[in-house]
Amino acid sequence: MRIAVLTSGGDSAGMNAAVRAVVKTGILKGCEVYVVREGYEGLVRGNTEWAEAEGQRVNTSATESVKQEVEINQYQAGSDNVNLLENLRFGDGELLKDGTSEFVGGRTLKGRYIVRVGWDDVRGWFSQGGTLIGTARSMTFKTVEGRRAAAHNLVKEGIDALVVCGGDGSLTGADVFRREWPDLLSNLYETSLITEEQLKKHGHLKIVGLVGSIDNDMSMTDLTIGAPTALHRICEAIDNINSTAYSHSRAFVVEVMGRDCGWLAVLAGVAGGADFVFIPERPPQVPWEDAMCAEIHRHREVGKRKTIVLVAEGAQDADLNPIKAEYVKQVLSERLGLDTRVTTLGHTQRGGRPCALDRILPTLQGVEAVNALLESDESTPSYMIGLHENKIVRVPLMEAVEQTRAVTRAVKAKDYDKALELRGSEFKEMLEGFIYTSALGSESEKLPKEKRMRVGIIHMGAPAGGMNAATRDAVRYCIRQGHTPLAIHNGFRGLLDDNIDELSWLGVDAWMPRGGSELGTNRALPSADIGGVAAKFQQFKLQALLIIGGFEGFCALLELEEGRKHYPAFHIPMVHLPATISNNVPVTEYSLGSDTSLNALVDACDAIKQSASASRDRVFVVETQGGKCGFIATMGALAVGASLVYTPEDGMTLDMLRRDVRYLKTRYSLDLPGKSEGRLVIRNEKSSEVYTTNMITKMLQEEGGSLFDARSAALGHTLQGGIPSPFDRVRAARLSLKCMVFLEQHHNRLLAQGGPHKPRHATGESAAVITVQTSSVKMVPVQDMVSHADMVNRRGKNAWWYDIKGLVEQLAGKPKFLGLHKVAGAGEFSKM
Ligand code: ADP
Repeated sequence: MRIAVLTSGGDSAGMNAAVRAVVKTGILKGCEVYVVREGYEGLVRGNTEWAEAEGQRVNTSATESVKQEVEINQYQAGSDNVNLLENLRFGDGELLKDGTSEFVGGRTLKGRYIVRVGWDDVRGWFSQGGTLIGTARSMTFKTVEGRRAAAHNLVKEGIDALVVCGGDGSLTGADVFRREWPDLLSNLYETSLITEEQLKKHGHLKIVGLVGSIDNDMSMTDLTIGAPTALHRICEAIDNINSTAYSHSRAFVVEVMGRDCGWLAVLAGVAGGADFVFIPERPPQVPWEDAMCAEIHRHREVGKRKTIVLVAEGAQDADLNPIKAEYVKQVLSERLGLDTRVTTLGHTQRGGRPCALDRILPTLQGVEAVNALLESDESTPSYMIGLHENKIVRVPLMEAVEQTRAVTRAVKAKDYDKALELRGSEFKEMLEGFIYTSALGSESEKLPKEKRMRVGIIHMGAPAGGMNAATRDAVRYCIRQGHTPLAIHNGFRGLLDDNIDELSWLGVDAWMPRGGSELGTNRALPSADIGGVAAKFQQFKLQALLIIGGFEGFCALLELEEGRKHYPAFHIPMVHLPATISNNVPVTEYSLGSDTSLNALVDACDAIKQSASASRDRVFVVETQGGKCGFIATMGALAVGASLVYTPEDGMTLDMLRRDVRYLKTRYSLDLPGKSEGRLVIRNEKSSEVYTTNMITKMLQEEGGSLFDARSAALGHTLQGGIPSPFDRVRAARLSLKCMVFLEQHHNRLLAQGGPHKPRHATGESAAVITVQTSSVKMVPVQDMVSHADMVNRRGKNAWWYDIKGLVEQLAGKPKFLGLHKVAGAGEFSKM
């Protein structure tokens, strides 16, 4: 199959990762892969325009271009490896990589829009923002004539499978194109532009959509490619504004992107700890000025020195009048006398270096796109590849586009509930979460006195990004509901030392962007003095407990639940919110801190790779933390495009190392002389006690000979990350609020058992861990977790990410390169 991939509409970070994944997967599956430059415009222009313009005709098949035969010819392939050697690199690919538009291999490539690319042509694309193959808005493609030319150009190249990465406009265009295809081809045949054979061979166009959009405005997917990076940029800006706003006691009105969708504004509001947001889907009643000023005035009254108001580009009031940042500023200045500034973030939000999620998800989605293409036939609908919580899904493309349109229609028809409904449950939860954690609320909104709880909050294990955010939001929720939030400092040891105090709404205000653990944390378990812990529960009259931490948090909850047999004080609802960079808590697929950690790893590896590339031919062995869980190493390897990854789950053996050395040698020997790149090997610190990072590095130095050199870098505690990533912050908010609701529900059940002097019996269900499982968030009773836990190695028994390791190796070409054999007499490599 010949597959073409294009990026269209507004650019977004992560598009390059998607294209890279499509190219690599396509080649691995035996396809020829083409990229279309400049979106649909490139499809319309095709490859002939240049030839005509230059007055000469070339064979437009990119297969003929400047392949580096010299090195490649030293190898012969097993039958299924032929395509990798044939697809290693093409002249046109070099053109794309270097970003030039003029000369490659002595030929002018200007005007060539559909170009064949090879394995190495997409190397290093991960870390680049925007789209390297270009994007455009094409008016011509919106006309039948334009699409006819596009169809003609594709048939000329023998292509009838297309991956389109773009927003809803681009995906609509894709669907129109697919539906029209048979007619377009008939027309081309009738006008003798294509042959009967071509007509028969390409009778059906296969299309798959990937959603590239910074707004996250597509229905039926939780995240669009580029939205996470845009959120990163916005949060960085808000974090910076926060400090100056605080210093001068100022108000800032920040305009963020989002013409039809308030996702960026809402999530940035939660992650950045803003005071107020305006979005298109939840327009305030007119006049909204009073409500906004009253809320901000309350914040100022309790002592808040800074005010941040976020305005989405498309924000409007309930009468559909636009709400503009300048006007909000005027209101804040005039009515509240605040020194107010406006900051418009504009195009800075679009891009820059993609964050970890915008490397991992587009990669997984790109792989799935090729699979969907290969499985599609005339009877299957066009799919869009989306994400549901933690699962890559295929959804019918037109249904997703239609639902997206329906949101806009609902907003226009002022049916805001429907608009929110259609945006999906997560969006709605985040919006409610924002309101709960930003607004002070009034006395009348609080729960009746008898339903209020004294809630202990404790951190356990190593610090992880998002712990403070989760605590802040739990505290804010408590205060709004009338509960008393009690900080237990320094873990269970602190509890035994009476190190416990009440937290205030203002006291936790600045905790959102703070890394580490504001409460202090350690690994001591309740079993150190379970009777003492029970006594303290009683002394401080704890009625609910929120444990935020890693594997220790889970163990602590288990001990407390088991302690219920002997200690009535533990008959209260208790919940564990997993927070650990190792992501080793059983059952759950996600722990707070793991996204921050992956971003820290990506940042470090980008810098390391740059250094490795500068010195050419260098392999960096990067050591990660993660205990006996290979999650960070594996997902990190996927996010940085590592060549090899070692995990504790698989361990390390001599045979494995021999194969890996052979793979690296083959790989380096196939590089263009003098044009090698740095390559990364990621090794979890506990992968092997014998084959240490130091040993592996020395081995690679020795074995690399003249082909490559090796160095090592241990990332150690840097992986805990400095500032928590926006995703860890928003997930902290979402999950901690769910935990609080869980505690309330079980508290109510206990209350229903009768008066305060009667002993109450908490069921096993009331001690639970909040987990993310493929596409849903579930509370799992801690006792039910035990059978899924490997208590010796401190990790879950089933690692959902386990197969990703195979994918990392596939995308590095390891199995394929290992299948190649050196041709006898082509020059020996020492020790090969
Ligand atoms: P986005 O994909 O980011 O929503 P646009 O709405 O601008 O961006 O669409 C990008 C391109 O997709 C357009 O320039 C046009 O070439 C193509 N396109 C959009 N809508 C259609 C349509 N209804 N029919 C054909 N092509 C379309």
